[in-house]
This record gives sequence, C-alpha cells and structure tokens, in this order.
Amino acid sequence: MALSLTNTLIADMEAVLANPNVPGNRAMIDATFGVDPSLHFPSIVDTVAKLKTGTFPIMLPLAKINPALAFTFYDATMSPKYTQFGRTFYAQRKKKTCKYSQRAQEATLIHEATHYLADTGDYIHRGEFLKGSDETQTSRTGYTGRLDPYETIAGLDGDIAWIKMRDGYEPKIDPKVPPVKKMHINAESYAQLVSIAGHAAGHLMPNISDIAFVVQDKY
Ligand SMILES: [Zn+2]
Repeated sequence: MALSLTNTLIADMEAVLANPNVPGNRAMIDATFGVDPSLHFPSIVDTVAKLKTGTFPIMLPLAKINPALAFTFYDATMSPKYTQFGRTFYAQRKKKTCKYSQRAQEATLIHEATHYLADTGDYIHRGEFLKGSDETQTSRTGYTGRLDPYETIAGLDGDIAWIKMRDGYEPKIDPKVPPVKKMHINAESYAQLVSIAGHAAGHLMPNISDIAFVVQDKY
C-alpha cells in the first residue's frame, strides 16, 4: 500500500473536518459519526491530527489460521502495544468472491491506527462506545454489516446495522432504542469517513479489477 495515498486520504478527512458547516462536509460527518449531542467534535479533529503525525508499530502478519482482518493488541495495563493484520488484508483481489479492495485496506489501516493513537473502540455498552482500552466485555459492536467500507453517504445510509446504531431504532415490543453515544471514539467511523471522503475527492476510486467486474456483470 502506498503511504502517499494514505497521507492524501488523511488530508481529505482533515479538509472535511476543517469546514464542518459546508453542507457536503456536514453530511459526511453526520453520516459517519451521527448527530447525537454526546458527540465531541474536537476529539474527532484531534484523532485525525494524530493520524497525520503519529506512528504505530505493526507486527508481522497474523497466522494463516486467524480469520481476522486486523487486531490491535493491548498489554496487561490495557495500553495498546502493536497491530497485526491478517492474510485477508494482504491478499490481492483475484477472485470475484473476494470483496477486499484497496479502499478496504486503507480504511482498515485508519481504523487500527485510531485504536493505537487515540484509544478508539469497537464495542458498545449501555448505549455508548467504550474506549479500546476499556476491559468491559460486550458483544455489541460498531461495525457495518459488510467488510468493505462504503464509498458514499447513500451506501452507508443503506446499511441497517449502521443506521440502527447511529440513529436508534424502534423494536417491535420494547421502547425506542436511542442512538449510540460517543461515536467520536468509534474506530469504524474513521474508516467510513476516510472511504467516503477519499472517494468524494477522487482519490479512492474502485480498483481496476472492480471496474472490470462491473462490466462483466452486465453480460
Ligand atoms: Zn477495531
């Protein structure tokens, strides 16, 4: 993966956050972080600034047997130690069944870097995000319903798992489940923002192989 592309994409995110009241930018921020009053916008700006200047240690690839895309490891005091990426992360797109694109690689890199540099988390407890270093056990996560990050706001808005988390929902029996709070520490929000902002800026287009498949699908 080209580091120059990563730096370009971080600048794309920075540009969106620098002018949050421009309608297009506002829509990207709202789609990826929600509009909950608990959202702490300055810490989003701060996290992206850390992505720009910070570094984080990466270990050799995860063992073949491990199906995970990537992992950030913590020590006994729950300080992040390093990140490992799985074989899926390094795999080139060769088959139609492989949905893993360069866009997904970039988004995963950003996701893991925010864990390390800004203590972002993946898990939700009692309706709010936990920091990555929080030891609370929970099974509710802040992921979307698919591996590939979305290219557009419309795409992300069509993801049921995401909109239930971001906007809340009305279960059949129980009262309304409110939007999840503290999305500014959701690692996946940064992954979705880098994908959508990068695509909007023309820096993260589909892979050539993706385009080839689109053409092929028409026949
Ligand atoms: Zn994560």
